[in-house]
Amino acid sequence: MQTLRASKYGLSTTQLPSAILDVIDALTKAGYEAYIVGGGVRDLMLGLNPKDYDAVTNATPSQVKEVFGRRCRIIGRRFELAHVYSGRELIEVATFRAPPKKEVTSASGMILRDNNWGTIEQDFVRRDFSINALYYQPRKNEVLDFCNAVDDIKHKTLRLLGDPMQRFEEDPVRMLRTLRFAAKLNFSIDEKILKIFTPEATQLLRDVSPHRLYDESQKLFTMGHLNRVMPMLIDFGIWHQLFAEITPEITPFIERAAKNTDQRISVGKTINPAFFYAVLLWKPFLERCHFYLSNGTVATEARAQAGLDVLKRQGTRTIIPRFAETFIREVWEMQTRLLNPKPQQIEALSSHARFRAGFDFLLLREKSGDKDTQGMGVWWDVYQTLSADEKERAIADYNRQRAKSRRKASHALAEEAKSNGAIQQAAIEPLVNEPEPRSRRSRKPKNATEFKRQSTMTDSAGGIGADHPILKRKRVKRDLSQVIFGPTQ
Ligand code: ATP
Ligand code: MG
Repeated sequence: MQTLRASKYGLSTTQLPSAILDVIDALTKAGYEAYIVGGGVRDLMLGLNPKDYDAVTNATPSQVKEVFGRRCRIIGRRFELAHVYSGRELIEVATFRAPPKKEVTSASGMILRDNNWGTIEQDFVRRDFSINALYYQPRKNEVLDFCNAVDDIKHKTLRLLGDPMQRFEEDPVRMLRTLRFAAKLNFSIDEKILKIFTPEATQLLRDVSPHRLYDESQKLFTMGHLNRVMPMLIDFGIWHQLFAEITPEITPFIERAAKNTDQRISVGKTINPAFFYAVLLWKPFLERCHFYLSNGTVATEARAQAGLDVLKRQGTRTIIPRFAETFIREVWEMQTRLLNPKPQQIEALSSHARFRAGFDFLLLREKSGDKDTQGMGVWWDVYQTLSADEKERAIADYNRQRAKSRRKASHALAEEAKSNGAIQQAAIEPLVNEPEPRSRRSRKPKNATEFKRQSTMTDSAGGIGADHPILKRKRVKRDLSQVIFGPTQ
């Protein structure tokens, strides 16, 4: 073990938020050892801005509770921790851990319970990577380095403590953490890890709960280097474990959305982590929609059912919480509305709660070459910049264009019908088109020739012909006063 002078590595108390200093000071004053550990120390040494600070102490969680009273809550079962509130900040305070006892590991070696308190030396061995195992005592200006981690920081190497295979078996999530830190810090992965990090090894992730995998996936999505980590997920076979139903391929849409997410994070904008799930699952969602549409399900129902199916299947890998599920489905549903809005609804739509996310999604689709958006992404982009008068004109123009393209479409359809003598595609309604207005759908033929043409069309599309018995059936007038209205079975 070497004791380093913290200031020599660019660390000083002036960089630290008062919340973490407050926790360290209170524990020290109560006679316990207390250090900052993990990502906070690592990131400060690398000149990065730490996301948060974790503390570690020789006080047990209940002793921590005694020190902080109502400001402290003990959480976790498998991994008991104290949460200490300092002002608005939350600091996680862990207790030094000793090696787990044999009987609390699963058949594959996974640690199931981990509340065996120990010394700092034992705690260090339990940490994942050398660079995450530096202990910083800010008041003493000291960093304790048990494994020459500073060298790994200098050489930008990600090294697991102990035998990599055993560490992955103990906790398969460390595989995800390996890729996350490699991407986030732009570190190279130690040879010893690469040797055993095979697609077979990723099978261990099957034993990890979908809840924990969802949490980890969120960390991957929001670390600011999503675009760098996505191809790594494919290369290392992790993709298959996280998103079994999604083809392992970085499509232009996924790539664009990943870059966009990273960019937003770099300028401090908020992101909804569920948004990227909406992107990843968009293709499976469309495929599922087509499945239902080709079975004759009406478009709205097809979209609803497809959404449910796709999210349910994804939930077997990474649970999708209810709020995220609602968000994703609303973003998808917005695609239909934004693509073919009714002119009188345009303004209201632009102030809808889900407009922003739906519009961002549409624009990302369009900019990544998706022709199905029909230029509506840019249309909405411009629309939002217009004055009230300009908006009115834009809506009128849009309405004219819409009528024109409707006429053009029905003309083309009629031409096609003439040349083929049939309409083959009529049964499949495009996903992102609103159904035709009722008035248009039930428009009566103007003359006998048109009537004949319509009836041949429906006939050859597998529908009802003019001489079908159902059309000859007499309408029975019912006396509604005799009908008892009640719940249907
Ligand atoms: P981040 O910047 O994402 O917060 P971090 O390294 O601080 O990175 P945390 O998940 O906050 O990661 O964990 C804090 C510390 O706890 C880690 O640095 C590591 O020492 C230890 N740790 C966390 N998860 C594991 C794990 N699965 N196995 C071993 N040690 C872990
Ligand atoms: Mg942390």
